[in-house]
Amino acid sequence: ETSAVLRSGDFVQVGEAIFKYLSGDNIEVAYHEEIYRLTIEDGLTKISNKRALTEFLDKEFARARRHERPLVVAMFDLDHFKAVNDDFGHLMGDYVLREVARIAQARVRQEEMFARYGGEEFAAVLPEVGLEGGMSFAEDVRRLIEEHAFSFEGNDVEVTVSVGVALIDASMTRAEGLILKADENLYRAKRSGRNRVVG
Ligand code: GH3
Ligand code: MG
Ligand code: MG
Repeated sequence: ETSAVLRSGDFVQVGEAIFKYLSGDNIEVAYHEEIYRLTIEDGLTKISNKRALTEFLDKEFARARRHERPLVVAMFDLDHFKAVNDDFGHLMGDYVLREVARIAQARVRQEEMFARYGGEEFAAVLPEVGLEGGMSFAEDVRRLIEEHAFSFEGNDVEVTVSVGVALIDASMTRAEGLILKADENLYRAKRSGRNRVVG
């Protein structure tokens, strides 16, 4: 039996796995942390990206199913967002996306996730929240956005969002079922006039 003190950068092999030991102040640690951050964060809004959301949702879905706990997914889509870009330019559009992310992010709890799903679409995953709580969360965010004064380089724009809310049920075997259901309700929210929550 031999022993040796590890120094930063040393490799340790255990079976087929090779570990690289990096001490806390190593610049390479910061590098790996930065690379990891880039894989889970949306570059424009700095909130979680779709990849992070999918991973989080898969875990929470499995947990909710196993313990028969509630779980809500809400899909948000900005209304007539193309017109914001067309009328005021893409920098205004980008500003609106950052503001919407910031407003909604401030409303979610530590154990919840609000993410940019893609384009002008966002999604929230709310563990341990029932339909009523999910609807009230979505309505809060919808109202906050409707009432927010979006102002960028001297231009003011009114922004609204449509939301579809879905609660986990026994018929759902995969997390995508929740996304699908939330999408259906989002479509209904759009069809019935936008700037509203459907659950
Ligand atoms: P609806 O109410 O039916 O959702 O209408 P909409 O105009 O919001 O929907 P549509 O899908 O036609 O347009 C989405 C727009 O979102 C088009 C696209 O240029 C814009 N968009 C997507 N991602 C970004 C982005 O990162 N920045 C900017 N500025 N615009 C974006
Ligand atoms: Mg869209
Ligand atoms: Mg839209």
